[in-house]
Amino acid sequence: MGGDRYDAIIVGVGGMGSATAFHLARRGWRVLGLERYDVIHPFGSSHGLTRIIRLAYSEHPSYVPLLVRAYELWHELEELDGRKLLYTTGNLEGGLPDGEVFRGAVEAATLHHIPHEVLSGAEVAARWPAYHLPVDARVVFQPQGGFLASEECILAHVRLALASGAEIHWRERVAEWGTLGDDDLWVRTDRGRYRASRLVIAAGSWAGRLLPELAALAVPERQVLAWLQPTRPELFRLGAFPVFYLQAEEGRYYGFPEWGIPGFKFGRFHHLGETVDPDRMDREPNQRDEEVLRAFARRYFPDGCGPTVALKACLFTNTPDEHFILDLHPEHPEVAIAAGFSGHGYKFCSVVGEIMADLAQHGETRHDLALFRLGRFS
Ligand SMILES: Cc1cc2nc3c(=O)[nH]c(=O)nc-3n(C[C@H](O)[C@H](O)[C@H](O)COP(=O)(O)OP(=O)(O)OC[C@H]3O[C@@H](n4cnc5c(N)ncnc54)[C@H](O)[C@@H]3O)c2cc1C
Repeated sequence: MGGDRYDAIIVGVGGMGSATAFHLARRGWRVLGLERYDVIHPFGSSHGLTRIIRLAYSEHPSYVPLLVRAYELWHELEELDGRKLLYTTGNLEGGLPDGEVFRGAVEAATLHHIPHEVLSGAEVAARWPAYHLPVDARVVFQPQGGFLASEECILAHVRLALASGAEIHWRERVAEWGTLGDDDLWVRTDRGRYRASRLVIAAGSWAGRLLPELAALAVPERQVLAWLQPTRPELFRLGAFPVFYLQAEEGRYYGFPEWGIPGFKFGRFHHLGETVDPDRMDREPNQRDEEVLRAFARRYFPDGCGPTVALKACLFTNTPDEHFILDLHPEHPEVAIAAGFSGHGYKFCSVVGEIMADLAQHGETRHDLALFRLGRFS
C-alpha cells in the first residue's frame, strides 16, 4: 500500500488532537493531523467559547497531579502563542451538603493541600450576590479555578504545531486504518492513503467508529448550553463571578461569567440524558432544552435569567465510570487512544497532548494512568 509516510498520524484535530500534534511536532516528529471538519467547528465537543478548569477535583483526587501539569502547560502555551487563554476567576464546587461533589472537592483539596475555603450558601451570596444557593448549601471555593478560551486554545496548539512543521489536513475524514506489520500502519481517508509508524486516535464522539471496541465504552450524549442576558449584568461580569460546578436537587450544573457572548453561560451536566449518533444528532436546541436550563437560572441565579441570548448543542462522550480512556491499543501498541472524556476533559487537553506524545514516542509516560486504562472495563 502506497501513500506518504509520517512518524505519527493523529486522527481528529480537536481539543486533544491539536495538543498532541503540538507536542509531537515540537519533539521533531513528522506529524500528520487529519480532521474531518474545519480548524474550529460546532460539531464536536470543544466549541461554545469556554471550558472550566479547576484544581480541587471532586471527580477523583487522582486527577489533581495531572491538573497541576495541565496548568503549567496552559501557561506555557500562553507564553509561546503570546495570547491569554486561561482566565482565573476562582471556582465554587459543591452544593448539596451531603453530595458527592462537595465531599469530593473537600477530599481532593485536603489530600493535595490545595488552597481553599469551605463556604455556606449564605456566605457565597454575601460575597457573590449573583448566587442564590440554599443557605445551608456547602461549597468549596478554590481561588485557582477559572476557564479556558477553548477554541482559542485549539487555534494556539494548531499554530504552534504548524510552526514546528506539523502537516494538518482539514476537511479530510479518516475512513479506516490498519496495521502492515513491522512498525507500519496505514490510514485511508476520503481523499487518500497515508502510512505512519504510530497512530493517535483522538476522534472525540466518533472514537467508536474507528475503534469498534470503544463503541459501548465511549458513548456520545447530546448537551445544550445556554447564554441568558442578566438583568443585573454587573453581577455576572468577569472579576465579579467565579465559575461553578454545583450539585443541586435538580442535578449537576456548571456556569461561567460573561465572556465573548453577552450572557450568563451555563449548562446541565448530562442535560436530558440523550444518547445519540453524532452524525444524526439534533443540533437545533428546542423549547424543552431551553426550559430545563431557564428553570435552573430562575431558582439559583434570578438576576441572570433575562432573555435567552444563545443556545448551542454539543457532545459529551461518556465512559461507564466517567473516567477517561488514555492508553495504548490492547492489540496494537503502536496505536495510542485518547477517548471518553465524559464531559470534563477539556481542562486536561494540554497534558493529554503530552501523554499521547509520550505513549506514541516511548509506549509509556511518567504520568500515572492507572485510573484511565482500557483494561479496567474487561
Ligand atoms: C457543553 C459542554 C460543556 C463542557 N464543559 C466542560 C468544562 O467546563 N470543562 C472541561 O474540562 N470540559 C468540559 N467539557 C468536555 C470537553 O469539552 C471535552 O471533554 C473535550 O472537548 C473533548 O475533546 P476531544 O478532542 O476528545 O473532542 P473534539 O474537540 O470534539 O475533537 C475530536 C475531533 O475529531 C474529529 N474527528 C472525528 N472523527 C474523525 C475522523 N474519522 N476523521 C477525521 N477527524 C475526525 C472531530 O471532527 C473533532 O474535531 C464540556 C463539553 C461539552 C459538550
